[in-house]
Amino acid sequence: MAGCSKKMEVWIERGYTGKEITVKCGSTSPTGYPYLCEACEIKYSGVDWRREAMENGENFDDDY
Ligand SMILES: [Zn+2]
Repeated sequence: MAGCSKKMEVWIERGYTGKEITVKCGSTSPTGYPYLCEACEIKYSGVDWRREAMENGENFDDDY
């Protein structure tokens, strides 16, 4: 698990609108990518999240 578990606010888009939610740095977003704070985003910028998730046994519907 990546991230430092720091709480942060993120904006979730829902169609034409959206809402702000509080998440922990490192928790997984609906897209399969983790939410990261600025520091961790820099730290993990080279990480291939799809491959990481596959190795952890998670599946994605779209093929690539
Ligand atoms: Zn962090």
